[in-house]
Amino acid sequence: MILDKEHLRANLDEVIWNIEQARIAVSEHHIVKLVTVAKYTELENIATLYELGQRAFGENQVQQLKERMHALEELPLEWHMIGSLQKNKINNLIDLRPTLMQSLDSIELATELNKKLLAKETKMHCLLQINAANETTKSGVTPERAVDIYQTIKETCPQINLKGVMTIGAHSDDTKLIQQSFESTYSIYEKLKKEGATVCSMGMSGDYELAIKCGSNLVRIGSALFK
Ligand SMILES: *Cc1c(COP(=O)(O)O)cnc(C)c1O
Repeated sequence: MILDKEHLRANLDEVIWNIEQARIAVSEHHIVKLVTVAKYTELENIATLYELGQRAFGENQVQQLKERMHALEELPLEWHMIGSLQKNKINNLIDLRPTLMQSLDSIELATELNKKLLAKETKMHCLLQINAANETTKSGVTPERAVDIYQTIKETCPQINLKGVMTIGAHSDDTKLIQQSFESTYSIYEKLKKEGATVCSMGMSGDYELAIKCGSNLVRIGSALFK
């Protein structure tokens, strides 16, 4: 549904207000970036959010990312890839030069991506995706192996510029479980700070305030903005 500007402004104000409350409860110096997840919404709404000051957008499919980047190429937007990347789409994604690829979810994918980046003589900023609650339905590396895998990718994949970690909160009605998945990811992020990690991406429409309280500095929000 195409939403009018005042409607989107009210949604955006509400989300930004909530982010502000949550981040100030952590620290006045704790800065949180908002990435708008546009996967379920129309192009027109992205353009309107741009007029309202929003700059960073995320998509979970390479094809949709490509169409939208082209359709909106006049606008100075930054684009994030947040969905599982199939091996046969790696070259397409590289050609799009996303600002940040948040869903690097295995050593195998990293190795393939590195090889193709090398062939194209370019690099990519990525986050390592962590399957914090060990859910079979989600991709990502296990929390137990995350630090190890992060270091291995850093050492063996020079075309990949690892900037931190990403997780999707546990799929549960139990806030405790969701919180645990964020805390587990944050503790991995803390260990990786000495490896240069600066981004801890966690929190979506249903749980971003909790994620920020657990240390998130990048939230990915879709439905709360387009309701
Ligand atoms: C869809 C999606 C989001 C946004 O989800 P909402 O609940 O609509 O805010 C965030 N992160 C990822 C990885 C997603 O696929």
